[in-house]
Amino acid sequence: MPQKLTKLEERAIKLLLKHEETGLLQSELWHKLGVTSREGSRIAIKLEKKGMIKRVKEFAKDRWTRRLVPLIKQVNLDVVRGAPCFSCEFNPVCGREGSVSPNTCLLIEDWLLASYRAYKEAQAKARQKGRRKG
Ligand code: SF4
Repeated sequence: MPQKLTKLEERAIKLLLKHEETGLLQSELWHKLGVTSREGSRIAIKLEKKGMIKRVKEFAKDRWTRRLVPLIKQVNLDVVRGAPCFSCEFNPVCGREGSVSPNTCLLIEDWLLASYRAYKEAQAKARQKGRRKG
């Protein structure tokens, strides 16, 4: 079920997602948000209770503090861009329980093969580019 967030919580999550791997020290986040440490701590605790971040104890800048690390990931929709399912007339009845199965769908098969070919070509181009630089 989607979590309801306040505007500040939403801004905090957006900032943290820019540092998805390492997170941010809470003081850095407060600074970027322009809030007091008290206000910021409340936001962090709420986000932790909602399961969206973890607060990891860390010794930094000569004192113990918390690093805020997002537990959610940004969704990259590029991988499904161009998929035929979004505009398919059988979409409402397609699936495990449906009358149409993606397992036998030629449209999805063609799209997957074309996507795979495009991916391989992009990889080959990247390798060639890397060789030219090296
Ligand atoms: S898998 Fe095929 S039939 Fe099912 S929704 Fe996608 S395009 Fe349509």
